[in-house]
Amino acid sequence: MPETLYIVLAVIVVLGVVIGLYAGSKKRKGDQYRLDETTTPVITDEEARADQAVAEPDVVSDEPVVEDAPVPTLETPESVPSRMQRLRARLARSGSMGKALLSILSRADLSEDDWDEIEETLLAADVGLEASDDLMEKLRTETKVRGTTDTSVVREILREQLLALVDPSLDRTLDTTPGVGDDGQHHPATVLVVGVNGTGKTTTIGKLSRVLVAEDKTVVLGAADTFRAAAAEQLATWGERVGVDVVRSDIEGADPASVAFEAVAEGRKQNADVVVVDTAGRLQNKAGLMDELGKIKRVMEKQAPVREVLLVIDATTGQNAMSQAKVFSEVVGITGIVLTKLDGTAKGGIVINVQRTLGVPVKFVGLGEGADDLAPFDPEGFVDALLN
Ligand code: GDP
Repeated sequence: MPETLYIVLAVIVVLGVVIGLYAGSKKRKGDQYRLDETTTPVITDEEARADQAVAEPDVVSDEPVVEDAPVPTLETPESVPSRMQRLRARLARSGSMGKALLSILSRADLSEDDWDEIEETLLAADVGLEASDDLMEKLRTETKVRGTTDTSVVREILREQLLALVDPSLDRTLDTTPGVGDDGQHHPATVLVVGVNGTGKTTTIGKLSRVLVAEDKTVVLGAADTFRAAAAEQLATWGERVGVDVVRSDIEGADPASVAFEAVAEGRKQNADVVVVDTAGRLQNKAGLMDELGKIKRVMEKQAPVREVLLVIDATTGQNAMSQAKVFSEVVGITGIVLTKLDGTAKGGIVINVQRTLGVPVKFVGLGEGADDLAPFDPEGFVDALLN
């Protein structure tokens, strides 16, 4: 019977091996499952907090910080011809004044009622009393001299007179050429932007930076509106969008003059072409405003002369805008006006009124919320858009 015994033993051995292999394979699968479980990192709340503290210290410093622009995700600026066409179309929407005047002036034998209507149209479009009187006098004389109601002649007269009021001879360039100080050091051209909150200062600075960057200029922005955290945040977003560094403070209510000073210092350090400083437009009282803007300007001038002070005015706020403009021009010497939201108003006459009242040219107009919706003010294009 030894063969039978050998066969039984062989079967037992084979069974043993098969059972052993099966059990081994089950074990490995189980190990792998647990391995997976244990390699999934379990981070405790404390560890998470500790990690975060290393990555983003929530210790805020009093010192203004420079927020480096990340590699810009620049959208390509719109081409100049398409941009100008779009801007003209938008501007034309504020042109009801021109069209209304044209239709009245084309009537035969203008009566006093017609002239009253002309005056009402001018005042409704925010041209202002003085400029309206002037324009009416010139129109009366010219229409009499040329003695016609022919629409094309009347249009020509109106165009000439409106253009004279807008004054194409004013210098509307923005001085953005850096210089060298008495100390032989590089001085960026500095631009201070002032105006009441909500008029569009920050947006204008963003759009303007985009224009400057497209001209291959290097720009540093200063977020000296430190009273609202959202304002610095908004400027930082524009900085990222257009690819320029922003100097800001992490502390709400930090000294705006200190941020402005650091922005110009950073501009010098970087050999930047232009430094543009945003400010808060709190019209609490004239003396307070004068103190605040005066101090900002003074400290900036310790680093480099302030070349431009741009006053931003919301064209849709009419008479209110005019009184704000007067206060700002009294507290800080304005070198140029940016008239925003001209896309949202039919009252284009404010261009004439504000220039006449302040004796300062409109240098830019805002025609929308988009990054390319800022145009250098072009008197002829403006008057043509009014009349079209
Ligand atoms: P700030 O408080 O003076 O800095 O004003 P902001 O830059 O925050 O602008 C206030 C609001 O006006 C925002 O909603 C802007 O998008 C809007 N805005 C600025 N400029 C223009 C413009 O030219 N046209 C239009 N339609 N809106 C504008």
